[in-house]
Amino acid sequence: MNGVATKSALNLARSLYDAGIKNEDVLKALADTPREMFLDAALGHKAYENTALPIGQGQTISQPYIVARMTELLLENAPKRVLEIGTGSGYQAAILAKLVPELCTVERIKSLQIQARLRLKRLDLHNISFKYGDGWKGWANKGPFDSIMVTAAASSVPEALLTQLADKGVLVIPVGDESQQLLKVVRHGDTFSSEVVEMVRFVPLVNGELA
Ligand code: SAH
Repeated sequence: MNGVATKSALNLARSLYDAGIKNEDVLKALADTPREMFLDAALGHKAYENTALPIGQGQTISQPYIVARMTELLLENAPKRVLEIGTGSGYQAAILAKLVPELCTVERIKSLQIQARLRLKRLDLHNISFKYGDGWKGWANKGPFDSIMVTAAASSVPEALLTQLADKGVLVIPVGDESQQLLKVVRHGDTFSSEVVEMVRFVPLVNGELA
């Protein structure tokens, strides 16, 4: 199943190209990844629509356009080791794991993490380390990371993630509550530059006990 682009997946990749995603590796990774595997069977027929969909526990799998856009930004510095915060369904992790040598991913809801792990194993993706924990803290032992992607909206940029970002590293993160901005932050030694990419809508990066 892995690596075989279906007609619907190819059509989705084509529509993302039309929407402005030009990185061919990213488009290929999306075309080759069966998104229905990351959804409940009842939602499978919507897998190749360019929309966010529920994955249980009040969480969502992101819209393919946003997955592609964030991945494109994250790859700009050709990262070797990448951290993802918010494993969720594992879909974004699958895309990243096909494009970078090493992926570390953190999730605070155990049941989602277990399911995601199984799916990614079934897709023969073995370059992923999973952590059950609080993404606000990043994953200090595994850092520094060449790039970091946060797939839930933070009220502010978590300090720990800035600390764990390598020099010239790229952090892609939605920030805000009702109105959220997708930020691209780049590290230059001890300083950081930040640029607003576009407005987005994500579930919140929860601040609290693990679920
Ligand atoms: N990347 C996911 C998107 C999932 S939605 C995918 O492709 O499906 C965001 C995820 O972030 C949810 O699974 C949610 O449980 C997780 N999350 C929210 N706050 C978190 C936190 N503080 N630490 C770790 N994960 C968090």
